[in-house]
Amino acid sequence: MDEYKKSHERQKSKNLEEDKKQYIRDVEFKLSLKSVSAEKLNKKLGVSDWKDRINECSDSMEAWSRKFNMENVIDKLSREYTCANCGSVKDNYYPWEKDGKKYCSLECQDGKDQKNKKLRGIFNIKELFDWMRKMGATEIKFDATTNQIIIKSNSGEQKINIVDSGLSQKLQQELKSTQEPITFNQVDDEFNKKKNKNDRAAIIGAILIVGIILAVVIGVVIHKNKKRNY
Ligand SMILES: [Zn+2]
Repeated sequence: MDEYKKSHERQKSKNLEEDKKQYIRDVEFKLSLKSVSAEKLNKKLGVSDWKDRINECSDSMEAWSRKFNMENVIDKLSREYTCANCGSVKDNYYPWEKDGKKYCSLECQDGKDQKNKKLRGIFNIKELFDWMRKMGATEIKFDATTNQIIIKSNSGEQKINIVDSGLSQKLQQELKSTQEPITFNQVDDEFNKKKNKNDRAAIIGAILIVGIILAVVIGVVIHKNKKRNY
C-alpha cells in the first residue's frame, strides 16, 4: 500500500469512529428529548446495549441507517400507551383521551364491550366455552414462542401444545391471534350473550311463523264468508 492509500484508510477509519460517536450522541439526544429510557429501547431492539448496534458497524452508512432506525423506534416508543379500557398496547399518534386516560378507540373510551373485545376474533365461542369447562380452566393464554396454551385452573397451571389440545383448526388459529389471557368469566359472559341473542331470534322467528299462519287462516275464512254472501 502506498502512503497516500494508507493515509486515506487511516482517515476513513478515523471518520468512521467519529461518525459512530456522533450517531450515539444523536440517539442519546433523541432518548432524552422523547423521555424514553435506554432500557426500553434495548428491550424493544432485543439487545443488552443499543450502542453496540452502532459500534459494531464497519461503515458509516450502515451505522447511520441503524441510528436512523433507532430514532424511529424511539418515536414509536414515546407514543406507546396502554389503553385504559382493554389493556392493549398501542402507538397511535392520536389516542382517544378522556379524564387524562388514553384509549385505543372510541368504543373503549365509552367503556363499551371492554371485557369481550379480545373475544371478538373468536367465532366459535361455544366450542371454547365447552373446552374450557372440560379443562376446568379459569384462564388460558396462548404462548407463541412455545406454541402452547397455558391453562390456569383451581388446581394450578398446566401447559398443553395447541396441536394436542383437541380444538378445531379454526379455533386454534383464532386463539393464536389473541395475545392477552382469556378468562372463563369472559367466555361465559360472551357465550350467554350469544345464546340470549339466538334465543331471542328463535322466539321472534316463531312469532313470525305463527303470525303468518294466522294471517293465512283469517284470510281464507274471510274469503269463504265473502263467497257465501254473494
Ligand atoms: Zn382499547
